[in-house]
Parts: sequence; structure tokens; C-alpha cells
Amino acid sequence: MERWANPFARRRGRSLRLYLMSHVLAAVAWPYANGPRHIGHVSGFGVPSDVFSRYMRMAGHDVLMVSGTDEHGTPIQVQADADGVSPRELADRYNRVIVEDLHGLGLSYDLFTRTTTRNHYAVVQELFTALERNGYIVKRTTLGARSPSTGRTLPDRYIEGTCPICGYESARGDQCDNCGNQLDPEQLINPRSKINGETPEFVETEHFFLDLPAFAEAIGNWLDQRENWRPNVLKFSRNLLDDLQPRAITRDLEWGVPIPLDGWRDRGDKRIYVWFDAVIGYLSASIEWARRSGDPEAWRKWWSADGLGKDALGYYFMGKDNIVFHSVIWPALLLGYSGEGDKGGQPGELGRLNLPTEVVSSEYLTMEGKKFSSSRRVVIYVRDFLERYDADALRYFIAAAGPESNDTDFTWAEFVRRNNDELVAGWGNLVNRSISMAAKNFGAVPAMGELTGEDEAVLAVAKAGFATVGELIGKHRQKAAIGEAMKVVAEANKYLSEQAPWKLKSEEEKPRQATVLAVALQVVSDANTLLTPFLPHSAQKVFELLGGEGVHAPMPRIEEVEDLDGGPGYPVLTGDYTAGARWESVPLVTGTPLATPKPVFRKLDPSVIEEELARLAG
Ligand SMILES: [Zn+2]
Repeated sequence: MERWANPFARRRGRSLRLYLMSHVLAAVAWPYANGPRHIGHVSGFGVPSDVFSRYMRMAGHDVLMVSGTDEHGTPIQVQADADGVSPRELADRYNRVIVEDLHGLGLSYDLFTRTTTRNHYAVVQELFTALERNGYIVKRTTLGARSPSTGRTLPDRYIEGTCPICGYESARGDQCDNCGNQLDPEQLINPRSKINGETPEFVETEHFFLDLPAFAEAIGNWLDQRENWRPNVLKFSRNLLDDLQPRAITRDLEWGVPIPLDGWRDRGDKRIYVWFDAVIGYLSASIEWARRSGDPEAWRKWWSADGLGKDALGYYFMGKDNIVFHSVIWPALLLGYSGEGDKGGQPGELGRLNLPTEVVSSEYLTMEGKKFSSSRRVVIYVRDFLERYDADALRYFIAAAGPESNDTDFTWAEFVRRNNDELVAGWGNLVNRSISMAAKNFGAVPAMGELTGEDEAVLAVAKAGFATVGELIGKHRQKAAIGEAMKVVAEANKYLSEQAPWKLKSEEEKPRQATVLAVALQVVSDANTLLTPFLPHSAQKVFELLGGEGVHAPMPRIEEVEDLDGGPGYPVLTGDYTAGARWESVPLVTGTPLATPKPVFRKLDPSVIEEELARLAG
């Protein structure tokens, strides 16, 4: 079929609903490719951004959901050294693992790419160059480490010492893994070379800094206009403005994007700092998506602050440890690029760029009362989870009990309870008994006769769900949203129990039985649509059980692509999400054939709790 010829192209003329249609950018945090991701990671950025994007598409918006793996920086270089591979080989390995895991969760990225593409390098260098030209990047002499015995520069990753902030004894030259603060090597107490243990000497060396104080006023004005942000995010961001300092954007490191200035470009020992390159990924991924779609300028509809993208909305999803990069640093880069900081300037060749509409940050997920930790084995990786449980069971838990606005604990007992009591006994049971009864008695969607007050009431509850649930998802209150959808399920279960269609067996009761089951099936169909952003895999199944054909909940797929500019190929996550359900009640067609359904959800034996806890204990 023609539309598969170019998987990135969007079908034209998708919808006649032009009202209130917006271009919505869903910019999702970039997972770091130094290992597989655990369920704490995907509960923070992955599932919430997918629920939001799926809902916005169903509501008729043109969504661009982008991200990729973050692959530069010291930790990847260090781990590659330890594994005896190149950093690129290590990044290749975990890029693929992460792509497959996000695919398994059904996350509907328009493009999930990586930071090692030549396109990304070019976009990062374009931003760097324009910021420098506008005067927002300044060169400073700092202290760099040198090996006294060899006289050679010691990259940050080869220096460790005691963290001056928390006292952790194995802090790295650029960051303390214990307290998370960024450091400079000369701040370390008792610095030592990891190569031979000697004490490095510090000599003057040059690095580039982003002049963050030049954006304090512009960012402050922008934050003042923010509406609907979670109050803690807004407060945290405002506080950061009180003490903005110039921030280093280059490092002594060989692995990263080269510095695009004469005299620096070919230096093997200095690279752009990983955080600077990674935040630019939202833009470079959008550009890559557009280039692959056949319309290289299409990204402007989500980004350009003039013309096409003027009214676009941009939502950024992340864990709370990343707020500073999205509410202060990324806006500073965008303002500087557009020539809108204290020093003015001219926009670069991409034009003026949109700032985020909203920074949506989640809190932390812990596991059985402890912080996730791969080294301490307090962890369950996405892959292992999906081998044993269904993706929608995890998606349900994250939506209903995830760390939306409070730190939240994942326990196996609670996971099993929610799966069995809510998903299986609530929603699964409603689907199963209503469709089975209709299949057994009528073999098809029965005809709705005259409606009683009870029939109309339950139908109205389901219909009202579209406004309530939709508004809550739009405000990033997904916990409340799925709660409202499950209230519709509970109402329908109550309706079935009260109407007891299984008792309406005589000839004269048959029309009433048909009506009750037709009403129940309609509510199941509506509830299924309300749950589709949260539970896309099972929503597709329920849709088919109701006799639906074709795509109800579109799914991503993995494509092996060539680098657009001659680099090595790589896998991306992409998909065609133009088909599928709309955010509305669709009347079921009387006479549509129905078969006795197989259960959509799996009940879990409580023994899995003990098994999983034993695995955790090692
Ligand atoms: Zn520390």
C-alpha cells in the first residue's frame, strides 16, 4: 500500500474536524543509553507522555511526539572503557534495547531517534554557533587537570575524589553520582587519577560557558505568563532564577559533539557538554522526523515562533530531577538562539523558536520502599517486566497509582491487587460478561428497544465521561482521569447487576433483555474509548470483540533506517497514528456479529508477589 511506502509521511486530509485543532509537540525526556531502563524511568516520562499524546490525537490535534536516546557524556565513555568497547558500540547496544522496550510498552512516538545522528550534530552546532554569534557563549579560562607524570590532559572521567557537597568518596570529575550535583574536577577534595592514582595538577585551560544571567529577565517574564503548571514546578523554576551563573557547555572529553568554531572543531580533547546537546534533541528529532516525512520544513508547524507554528503548543515530560534543564536552560538556549536575551541578537537560520508551553514533571517511583538502584539490585527492568506481565497491566498501575504529583512506592502486592481487583474484576469482567451474554443469546449486537430511566442514566454517565476524562488528561491529571473512566465501568457493572439480564429469559422478556445488553455494550464501547489512551493494547482487543474492524488504537513499530547524512544506520520507533478511534461515543451497529470472548486481562496468582520479592532479594 502506498501509505507504507514512506512510514514517516502523514496521510493528508485526515479529518474534517478543523475546529480547535492545534499542533501539539509532545517532547519526551531522553533516556540515557548506558543501560536498560527500569519501570521507574518509564513511569516518569514514558507512559504519561503517551497517554497525553494518544488522547490529543483522538481529540483531533496534530501531535508530534519525539525523543530518543541520550548517548554522549562521561558515564557512557567510562562504561565503554570498562566493557572494552567504543562508546558508540555501547550506545548502539542500549539504544536498541531501549527502542525495543518502549515499543513493547506501546509508546506512540512519531520519532524516537538518538543523539549520535549527523542530523543531531548539525542542529546542535547550529544552535551553538548562533548563540556564540549573539554573544551568549563566552570563553573562560578554568582549571583543567593534567597528569604530572605524563604531562597529558586528564579528561574528567579519569578523575575522582570526595564530593565537596555531600562527602561521597567516589565522585566523578563532572558529577557526583551520590547527590547528583554537577562538579568541576578542581572542586573535588583529594582528587586522584583513576589511571594511576596520582594527584593531578590543575593548569589553566579554556572552556565555553553559556551566559545564563543574560536570560534571567526574559525567563522570569516567560514564567510569569505560565498557566496551569504544577505549582511545585513553577516555584522551583522561579527560585532557580535567583542565582543563575554562567554554565560550562564544553568539557575535557573525547566523546561528544565537536565544538563548531575555528581552532576548536578538530580538537580531539574537547567536546560540547552532554546536557547542552541532549536538550537540543527535541528540536533535532523534530527536524529529522520532517526530513524523513518528505516535507523537510514540516517541523516548523510545531516550532516556529512566527507563521506556521505560532499557535503550536509544546509539552515537555520528565522526572523532577530534570526540571532545571526544561524550565530554565532549554528556554535560555531558545531565547538566545532567537536573539531575545539581554544582549539581543539575530535569530539563526532556523528562525525564532517556540518556548515550552508547559513543563510536566513527575515525582519519583520507589520500589518496595527503596530507591531504584541497578547496582543494589532494587530494580525491575522494563524488558523483564514485559516478559512476565502485560504492558497494559503496567500502564494501568502507572496511570492509577504512579508518581504523578507525589513520590510513590511500587509494591508487587499493590500491583497484583490493582491488576486483579480493578483491571480483571472491574473492567475485564464487565467486557466479558456483557459480550458473552449478548453472543450467547443473540449472536450479535442486539436491538435497543424503548429505554427506561436507568438505561438512559447509565448511557449518559458514559457519554459525560468524554468531557470529564478528556479535560483531566489535558491538564495532566491522569490519575483522576483514569479514576473517572473506571467510575463509568463501575456504574455499568452496577447497572448489569441491577438489571440482571440473565434472568430475563421468557419470550416476553426477550426484548427487554436485548435492550439491557445493547445498553451495556454501548457503555462498554464508550468506556473502552475512554480507556484507550491508557490501555491501548487491550482497547484494540475490546474493540474487535465488539465486532470492530481495522485500527482502533494505533501502535508504534521499529524501523531500521539509514542515517540521513551518511552516518551508520540505526533503529527508530515510529508509526502511523492517523487511523484509530476518535474521542467520542460511536453508536454500535445493531446486528454486528459477536463471538464469545476470551478474557482480555490475565488474573495474576498471588504467589507472584513472593516470587518477585525473592528475585529482588537476589
Ligand atoms: Zn555529592
